Amino acid sequence: MSGTPYGKSMAQAAVAAAQAAAAKSVDRVYNFNPGPAVLPLPVLEEAQRHLLALPGVGMSVLEISHRSKSFDEILAQAEADLRALLGIPDNFKIAFLQGGASLQFTMVPMNLLPKEGSADYIVSGHWAQAALKEAKKVGKVNVAASTEAENFSRIPRQEELKLDPKAAYVHFTSNNTIYGTEAPAEPEVGSVPLVCDASSNILSKPIPVGKYALIYAGAQKNMGPAGVTTVIIRDDLLGRVPPGLPAMLDYKLQVEKKSVYNTPPVFAIYILRLVLQWLRQLGGLKEMERRNKEKSDLLYNAIDSSGGFYRGTVEKWCRSRMNITFRLPAETLEEKFVKEAASQKLSGLKGHRTVGGIRASLFNAFPLEGVQALVSFMKDFQQKNG
Ligand SMILES: *Cc1c(COP(=O)(O)O)cnc(C)c1O
Repeated sequence: MSGTPYGKSMAQAAVAAAQAAAAKSVDRVYNFNPGPAVLPLPVLEEAQRHLLALPGVGMSVLEISHRSKSFDEILAQAEADLRALLGIPDNFKIAFLQGGASLQFTMVPMNLLPKEGSADYIVSGHWAQAALKEAKKVGKVNVAASTEAENFSRIPRQEELKLDPKAAYVHFTSNNTIYGTEAPAEPEVGSVPLVCDASSNILSKPIPVGKYALIYAGAQKNMGPAGVTTVIIRDDLLGRVPPGLPAMLDYKLQVEKKSVYNTPPVFAIYILRLVLQWLRQLGGLKEMERRNKEKSDLLYNAIDSSGGFYRGTVEKWCRSRMNITFRLPAETLEEKFVKEAASQKLSGLKGHRTVGGIRASLFNAFPLEGVQALVSFMKDFQQKNG
């Protein structure tokens, strides 16, 4: 930028800018939102620092060409870090797409469900239902199991799954963002390709990627900002993609074109790259799992030791470490809880409108101190209202 504001010296301007930045981070609340969700502060700070000009490029990442060398590097680094973090085998390809996880509900069956075939769906919550609904528009589907009758207070158990050994694939949701359940392990599906919507717990712990055929995730829960969706796909599945699909919806084309068939969400991919770098610097997914366990245990212990004032809403064996759902003795108290919490910088605790109650989303970037603050608020609230 030319000149310095209000005739201050460069040094003064720099100090003022640093102070403004520090004040902004102090003003940040604890963000329990389910998505878009909290991002790591160091990532936001780096993006802020380099927003006007990427080092060595002299242009904002918002202004660069998606076919430039600098964007090539961002994309390559994002892919390399994702591979390293998840231990993605070489026979898997990665594509960064648009349209959110919701477009994957359509792309998966369009690409992988042949006309004469059928696909198995494990229905464990709202998003699994949404995936099933879209797949039905494309081809034949079979509900392998559903826990809807129990208001999705648990995920289906392995022994309940009615799996078709000839299914084109089995689809499951690894973490049910709205209901607060999480699959402790992958379903056993034999040699049928396993497809997973991992939008709300990807990168929260190590997973055996080799057990999967396709993993997809919208970034805005645990990976970055809204606008980019990660698809990790085993390369043999690309051979199944039928000819003549609309280009944008064709996995084979998107993989061949390395995510730049058309203009990708450059900024979202840049932030994703910073998040992946942050994860690697922190020690990777084992360390993330340790932190996520520590944070969620702290909150679940507070719920379980409240003498019934706070009640978890799901079965303990499949409790989510990402989205912790609970109820209070009355809806009026829940409203009061959310409101008073917000006044103490504990923001975004209202449960999803379809289920009510309280939901605390503790994604990777959510700090332990925020959980400690919530637990202390909960004790205080119970004392005053219990
Ligand atoms: C949020 C969410 C979705 C929907 O994601 P969009 O990117 O908004 O389409 C799908 N599945 C799960 C598990 C989610 O948490």
